[in-house]
Amino acid sequence: MIDPFGRAISYLRVSVTDRCDFRCVYCMAEDMTFLPKRDLLTLEELDRLCSAFIDKGVRKIRITGGEPLVRRNIVSLFEALGRHLRTGALDELTLTTNGSQLERFAAPLKAAGVRRVNVSLDTLDREKFKAITRWGELGKVMAGLRAAQAAGLQVKLNLVALKGVNEGEIPEMLRFAHGEGMDLTLIETMPLGDIDGDRTGQYLPLSLVRARLAEAFTLQDLDYRTGGPARYVRVRETGGRLGFITPLTHNFCESCNRVRVTCTGTLYMCLGQEDAADLRAPLRASEGNDLLACAIDEAISRKPKGHDFVIDRRSSRPALARHMSVTGG
Ligand code: SAM
Repeated sequence: MIDPFGRAISYLRVSVTDRCDFRCVYCMAEDMTFLPKRDLLTLEELDRLCSAFIDKGVRKIRITGGEPLVRRNIVSLFEALGRHLRTGALDELTLTTNGSQLERFAAPLKAAGVRRVNVSLDTLDREKFKAITRWGELGKVMAGLRAAQAAGLQVKLNLVALKGVNEGEIPEMLRFAHGEGMDLTLIETMPLGDIDGDRTGQYLPLSLVRARLAEAFTLQDLDYRTGGPARYVRVRETGGRLGFITPLTHNFCESCNRVRVTCTGTLYMCLGQEDAADLRAPLRASEGNDLLACAIDEAISRKPKGHDFVIDRRSSRPALARHMSVTGG
């Protein structure tokens, strides 16, 4: 799949549910309305959809949400998709999770063929964790991290940098992650979906975070890439890798190799644009995959050059109405 700008699309992110057991303040309002369950693709349909993308050249699949591990029977989807790893059609099957259920799922995920997981963790402070996630418990996530490592999964931590909330803790998080043999990636807050408050106050440019870190650590640019949008440095003092995802301070669209499908089968060609294609109708219209394949081709031919979201200080509206939990982070 080659898009109009010559980019090969080889990475599919699949949101398997919009539901989550956390209510992170920058992500959702506390009283979120979720999709009716009947609108969701079944796990069998998700398998068919992913397999159609693999037939078209996708080499990496990330399962996400909402919280992917709250979807009932989700391990069966990993087990089913694992067959593509064994045939060599797929290079990587992975997930992004808040870690709350990892203690239970780490070993079955590893057995299904998962090798690496991204775990979102914005703070190591129990009270602050509660304040950010509203419903989360730090102890469960820490137990999840231990279980993931015990199962032999490589863990990368994702931290959303929040002004005045966790900005002072980033050096501590870096030492923690690297001390445990985990990579750490920092993410800028993106203006996606209505939340209870104003987001402009949370925005912390990573250019500033990097400059501050560079006062205490030696950061060496790396060519290392995981197929995602992060740019990495090696931290000399810890020996570990640190990634930066900077959708606002640095547009990373020129190397975009990704598309995203929601749990209802809507394909978004760009996280930061509204244009989308419905894949559920062609998926359900016949048992074969011809209609689906045509719909995917047509959508890829519309992939935009890039996103243009900005944190707008004049307006409290998000740049996009869609929450990250719908499109999949
Ligand atoms: N529940 C899973 C988790 O917590 O990782 C997967 C879905 S979550 C939407 C994926 C990632 O998106 C998390 O790291 C979360 O912190 C991040 N995220 C959510 N809303 C965001 C926003 N508005 N800006 C930046 N990152 C956001």
